[in-house]
Amino acid sequence: MDRLLWIDGKPVPARSGRLAPVLSPANGETLAQVAQGGPEDVGAAVAAAKRAWESGEWRRATAMDRAKVLLRLAERIRAEAEELAALESRNVGKPIQEARGEIGMGADCFQYYAGLVPAFGGSTVPVGAPGTGLTFREPVGVCGLIVPWNFPFAITTWKVAPALALGNSVVLKPASATPLTALRLAELASEVGLPPGVLNVVPGPGGAAGSALARHPDVRKVAFTGSTEVGSEVLRLAADDVKRVSLELGGKSASLIFADADLDKAGASVSGSFGNAGQDCCARSRVLVERAVYDEVVERFVEHTRALRIGEPLDEATQIGSLISSEHRDKVDGYVRRGVEQGAKLCTGGRARAGAGSFYEPAVFRDVDPAMTIAQEEIFGPVVAILPFDTEEEAIRLANATVYGLSGSLWTRDVARALRVVRGVETGVISVNTGWSVHLEMPFGGVKRSGVGRELGPAALDHYSELKSVFISED
Ligand code: NAD
Repeated sequence: MDRLLWIDGKPVPARSGRLAPVLSPANGETLAQVAQGGPEDVGAAVAAAKRAWESGEWRRATAMDRAKVLLRLAERIRAEAEELAALESRNVGKPIQEARGEIGMGADCFQYYAGLVPAFGGSTVPVGAPGTGLTFREPVGVCGLIVPWNFPFAITTWKVAPALALGNSVVLKPASATPLTALRLAELASEVGLPPGVLNVVPGPGGAAGSALARHPDVRKVAFTGSTEVGSEVLRLAADDVKRVSLELGGKSASLIFADADLDKAGASVSGSFGNAGQDCCARSRVLVERAVYDEVVERFVEHTRALRIGEPLDEATQIGSLISSEHRDKVDGYVRRGVEQGAKLCTGGRARAGAGSFYEPAVFRDVDPAMTIAQEEIFGPVVAILPFDTEEEAIRLANATVYGLSGSLWTRDVARALRVVRGVETGVISVNTGWSVHLEMPFGGVKRSGVGRELGPAALDHYSELKSVFISED
């Protein structure tokens, strides 16, 4: 089946006529031939978004009327959730159970911003002059949204929902490997009454379509999720026009386990490291353990890792699916070899599974030195480094000893310690006594090289709106 670009409310071929196969990484099956957009197509999509913006049909609709469309979209996604989850599962190679959760979260995201936006407005401000100060919240204009392949649908909704709720027009560039659910979302949005041109989707190579979007002069805001390397390039591309930019980038998050923690829970927290086969910006790819319980926690962690079921993405029992591609699997494997060469001890996994697909056995290393490559670089695969620490200060110092600062966990029963460590760790997000840290209702994003700005929660509304100050003289 061919999937075309989605521009101005309808499917259109790429100007070049190029199509590329989109594959299932679990078995090499071709899921669709997808049109490959380039700079001209991005230009056409931005022009459509700008026309929609200028017509005012969407941006001048009342917040309540926009919310009604988004609520219909949320319901439409729920009605088709099983098909969308299967599509996402096959395209990314991820377990169907995880894909279901992400589609559900996407639907909830539209519902959440539909509820938030009618209550989101400016304020009156007392000023030192005779008159009244007011602030207005206005949409930004055409937003360019660039999304990675690991959570294609969920991350798309994190950007599209607040952008649309506020009345912006959007051009979305999904990752080349995983454009299918984003294209379906655009169709669903059109079916529930989103005016043409308000949401456009241009799949295509990052270097051509993505960069054209980031530097297009009519794009006023760029929201990017992906690697730190590409994120800093996007920042440069957006700089000439002084666009608003938000970046959600890489991570090397740590899970800090203190000796007083519930070790049953902490030692079993492997899903925080290996969810989505570790292809998760928030993956706890480092586990820092107080030395007194180091051996015990390593043992438990390894045992729970060995129990994870690797299998076909659509199998209900699967916990670890395929990695996104054989190239990526080889890259992950290269990191594992490097860890062994540098002297870390591989306790389990660290091997590609024979046969079709890009399956990889989750790897756990112990005796890792903080300077080793596997403790420093984002691997973006199922590889965990477990390091010991002696004091709370050392734990915080180790947690902060990378260029990243996205997420993390700490495990302790001591509330005062929890508060001290939470304050000491330099991340945008951190959770206590759980390996999970993404909530639709809470801001999400990183510090240091993990990014700029926050998505989700009410904070996302700041990104997709401008504050206008109005003064009405009473003289
Ligand atoms: P990537 O940076 O290679 O690609 C991300 C997107 O950017 C894709 O759509 C790609 O086509 C596009 N792109 C590539 N080159 C471009 C360019 N020159 N100009 C504009 N766009 C370009 O990342 P990926 O491999 O798709 O995803 C993995 C990375 O994403 C990891 O580093 C991961 O940590 C990060 N990530 C971060 C978050 C977060 O919220 N912080 C969430 C998920 C993934």
